[in-house]
Amino acid sequence: MIDTLVQSIFINGKWQNAETDKTTTVYNPATLEPVAEVADGGEDETNKAIAAASTAFSTWSELTGRKRSKILYKAHQLMLEETDRLAKLLTSEQGKPLKEAKGEIKGAANFLLWYAEEASRSYGEWIPSSIKSKRMLVMPQPVGVVGAITPWNFPASMITRKIAPALAAGCTVVLKPAPETPLSAIEIVKILERAGMPNGVVNLVTGDAEAIGNAMLTNKDVRLITFTGSTKVGKYLMRESAEHVKKLSLELGGHAPIIVFDDADLEKAANLSLASKFRNNGQTCICANRLYVHESVKDKFTKILTEKVKQLKIGSGLDEGTDLGPLINEQASIKVQAHLDDAVEKGAQIICGGTKWDGELNGYFYQPTVLSGITDDMLVMNEETFGPIIPIQPFSDEAAVINKANDTDYGLAAYIFTEKTNRAISVSEKLDYGIVGVNDVFPAVAEAPFGGVKQSGIGKEGGHYGMEEFLERKFVSMGI
Ligand code: NAP
Repeated sequence: MIDTLVQSIFINGKWQNAETDKTTTVYNPATLEPVAEVADGGEDETNKAIAAASTAFSTWSELTGRKRSKILYKAHQLMLEETDRLAKLLTSEQGKPLKEAKGEIKGAANFLLWYAEEASRSYGEWIPSSIKSKRMLVMPQPVGVVGAITPWNFPASMITRKIAPALAAGCTVVLKPAPETPLSAIEIVKILERAGMPNGVVNLVTGDAEAIGNAMLTNKDVRLITFTGSTKVGKYLMRESAEHVKKLSLELGGHAPIIVFDDADLEKAANLSLASKFRNNGQTCICANRLYVHESVKDKFTKILTEKVKQLKIGSGLDEGTDLGPLINEQASIKVQAHLDDAVEKGAQIICGGTKWDGELNGYFYQPTVLSGITDDMLVMNEETFGPIIPIQPFSDEAAVINKANDTDYGLAAYIFTEKTNRAISVSEKLDYGIVGVNDVFPAVAEAPFGGVKQSGIGKEGGHYGMEEFLERKFVSMGI
């Protein structure tokens, strides 16, 4: 039963319902029971939010970095104090195990802390002039109003990874979260409100993606759209934003390879491959999609990994000890099954898993699955599966496996397991990816740049690079 209609639109410091009073239901993906009813806003609400952000920009951008920093720092503290409550809410709308949800809230709070620290460190430049009577100065200035669009797979950290640097830089924001997970977004905005964020600096509109997106794309006051989601929607935003030549920052899909070399520590490689693949049930843009294992260690590695996979506990993310929660919705479940069927049809063998999970919960659960007998033409080797399937293919030649890893339009994250430093460096240099993990599968941290190449995106989030996206460099040329 839903006992609350949540006011989920926040414009100029006021919480409200949609102007039409239309609502959308948020479901718990483990049980398919409704957990809340939120506002279904559209173009009108978004344009009002943009107007509020535009008005607030003049005062927010003129505050010192230190003043902006104080609010972000306070928000970081409030978020950490509420980790348990926020994690539970996140799991109830997204499904991931509570231990992962707690990790995500702490990670999300880290972005607030990092950019609270960065807010007073946006440096400019004094260029030595070639003309004696001139002085040349480069000033960093906030871009302006930012439209931020986020996905459901990390409902908290994908938001703070965008809005913390935007706010630190002096920009104001209109946020549109995914319809599956608006509750975490509402809580983050409430934390910013309690931390003392002035009215209009952060605004939230839940509802119709196309209508909200259209307002962001056509309203000239939005100077930058920062988007995390699929490559398909990223391309659409890129095409449509051309009309007003808006700045774009895009964090898109991935198709990460893991390469296990013959000199790898196999126990470590198996543990971390498992952690990468099954985190958030495989619904992570940087999670391993395909594994290439040297033929001399393939059987041993597969045995170690499979034993571990069989131990994974499926269930509601809210239950203690759950390792794998549900897939987000029916569409995700259909995609996972299609990838499995395609692989089996083309000759793959199922080593474990291979079917839906027949538990007593109604959600879209799938058994963690390991496949061998993999060929390059299978969907699992060419598209983001976004589910708990590990295809393992043997290789014998280093150059050939690097070519295979690079033979994709995606370029977000790739991983290698090797104990040889020379190999670690030379293979990292050759992988055509924005991020390479060497004996490491958790490269998303507040202090380092995160982002893809090719069709995995444009721009970086995280570290001091993340703030650059929200700054313009103004050149001031002075005659003296
Ligand atoms: P999605 O379908 O592209 O949706 C992402 C967001 O965009 C949602 O809020 C969605 O709202 C919105 N959206 C869709 N159409 C829009 C439009 N025409 N105008 C404005 N907004 C629009 O992606 P998803 O299925 O939620 O997320 C999974 C994808 O995100 C995967 O490909 C994953 O790899 C990628 N991802 C990338 C990163 C990264 O950092 N590179 C991180 C996490 C996820 P609606 O749902 O209402 O349409």
